[in-house]
Amino acid sequence: MKITADFHTHTRYSHGTGSVTDNAVNALSLGMRAVAITDHAKNHPLVGVKSEKIDVIRADVNAVDKEYRNIRVLLGLEANLISPRGDIDVTEEQAQKLDILLVGFHLTAYQKKFCDYFRLPFNGVTHIFFKNSAKQIALNTAAVVDCVLNNRVDILTHPGFRIDVDYGEIAKACAHTGTYLEISSRHRTPDEKGIEKILSEGAKMIINSDAHKPVNVGKCDYALSLVEKMGLTDEQVVNISDKPVIFRRGLKI
Ligand SMILES: [Zn+2]
Ligand SMILES: [Zn+2]
Repeated sequence: MKITADFHTHTRYSHGTGSVTDNAVNALSLGMRAVAITDHAKNHPLVGVKSEKIDVIRADVNAVDKEYRNIRVLLGLEANLISPRGDIDVTEEQAQKLDILLVGFHLTAYQKKFCDYFRLPFNGVTHIFFKNSAKQIALNTAAVVDCVLNNRVDILTHPGFRIDVDYGEIAKACAHTGTYLEISSRHRTPDEKGIEKILSEGAKMIINSDAHKPVNVGKCDYALSLVEKMGLTDEQVVNISDKPVIFRRGLKI
């Protein structure tokens, strides 16, 4: 079993180690039909893609896509969740330059307001040591739900990583909007229980490598072993067959 397209990979445009070409060549060598270049958006400290850089990366991706006829090379960004109100650091105007928009929670991302640091990131730190309280989980869940409802998010990356959430509630929102929840091999989340809850709400999932090195593009051992163990189908996990994947922003690939 393998994935047929990898929709979450990083390059030197943020803190990956390879180029757009490197990721495309590695994806092609695995027989994949598509690879997305999804570097961190601007609020990722030091390495986030500045607004003015989006056009440069767009041109690079287009050139590589044109050069390699047997694989589609797509442009995305991995936006940050930057407030408990569900705000992100990519505007809709910027997102329109992309093929897909990913959003994830990252502990170190610059928050929208100073007081926001004491909400999601602070609790992300305590999450490493303790399980969060029911009240905190409700706040985290509301942030993710509002993020999905208020922004046209194609993929929610590594849900549950350093942010305790109610998978049922976020899956309900994702099923409503057509947002895919990622099974992340890199961060080993969600687990089996989380996946069961997500699928019981009718939401769909997608497997990505989140590769930061070209050699890791398409490497999804954790996620694929869960798919096999749980007997998941290509209706539930959309990129394990050659069936077209339709994204919320309209891309069909
Ligand atoms: Zn991430
Ligand atoms: Zn990532």
